[in-house]
Amino acid sequence: MPYDVAIVGAGPAGSACAIHLARAGYQVALLDKASFPRHKACAEYLSPAAEPLLQRLGVEGFFDGIYPNKLRGFRITAPNGKTFQGDFSTTRNAEGKNLFESGLAISRYHLDATLIANARRVGVDVHENWRLSTLQRQNGLYQLHPVDAHESISAPLLIAADGLHSTVAHRLGLHIVSRMHKVAMVAHIRGITDLEDYGEMHVAGRRYVGLAPLESGISQPLCNVALVVDENRDRIGFAGQPESFLLQALKTFPGLHGRIDHLTVVVKADIEMSRNKNDQPRCTI
Ligand SMILES: Cc1cc2nc3c(=O)[nH]c(=O)nc-3n(C[C@H](O)[C@H](O)[C@H](O)COP(=O)(O)OP(=O)(O)OC[C@H]3O[C@@H](n4cnc5c(N)ncnc54)[C@H](O)[C@@H]3O)c2cc1C
Repeated sequence: MPYDVAIVGAGPAGSACAIHLARAGYQVALLDKASFPRHKACAEYLSPAAEPLLQRLGVEGFFDGIYPNKLRGFRITAPNGKTFQGDFSTTRNAEGKNLFESGLAISRYHLDATLIANARRVGVDVHENWRLSTLQRQNGLYQLHPVDAHESISAPLLIAADGLHSTVAHRLGLHIVSRMHKVAMVAHIRGITDLEDYGEMHVAGRRYVGLAPLESGISQPLCNVALVVDENRDRIGFAGQPESFLLQALKTFPGLHGRIDHLTVVVKADIEMSRNKNDQPRCTI
């Protein structure tokens, strides 16, 4: 039996879409090549605008645990060590009304799995370990075929929520070739000192690193560390050893001096390349 809607990709876009459609009464198949929970290379900070959207989605099990951590704003440190701080509570609309109080920091491990659990709760048919291989359109239906023996899925409406390197976009000839050659290395680390309820962004030497404290109120809170480098410039440095490259690179940011002497890597570095996958292989370790 065809579904009303097939959604490829169960990241935040796919799951949110699936929840809205299922609550509107549609039969929805949500397909993802991964099995959840899973880690994903991301700086794991949500803009203050995200919280009202999550509340509108009616997600359960989201605001009642230790996650997400609330962030009061961001601190940006320039190559010369000077820091600028922005607080969300100072944002005002045209009438002078306060817009936001806080942003959120939450691991994709928890965020994506929570959204998927909520999609299941409202009746979405979630297929994990289901990797799209090919698709065709026949008699008004999209026929979606996975790489292995999983069942094929059909629906008159197809939503491509399969991310930056979208297979759907490739199969339909809609992909855009990226000209940016940036590489991100992301890890979860304990032991960074002087973390407060602020996200941090440090810029130096054509690299930047974001810190998003995923916990607060405890000693050695878990922190997302997301380093972005220029692929052409740093390729030799990170090849085969992204984690030691990441830890060495942290020492080059003036705003981290004296704060990273005793680090414990809890979730090892994951790499995301911004290049189109037809140019170069996407690389995950
Ligand atoms: C290094 C980095 C840091 C970032 N930091 C932030 C941040 O701090 N805050 C923020 O708001 N945004 C951040 N972003 C952007 C954010 O990650 C994306 O905007 C967000 O993930 C997009 O969500 P999505 O649901 O569209 O796609 P994704 O989250 O990419 O989800 C796509 C899903 O599709 C699945 N999929 C892919 N191919 C197939 C296939 N063939 N078959 C089946 N399933 C498939 C994948 O497994 C995945 O689960 C960051 C991105 C990067 C790369």
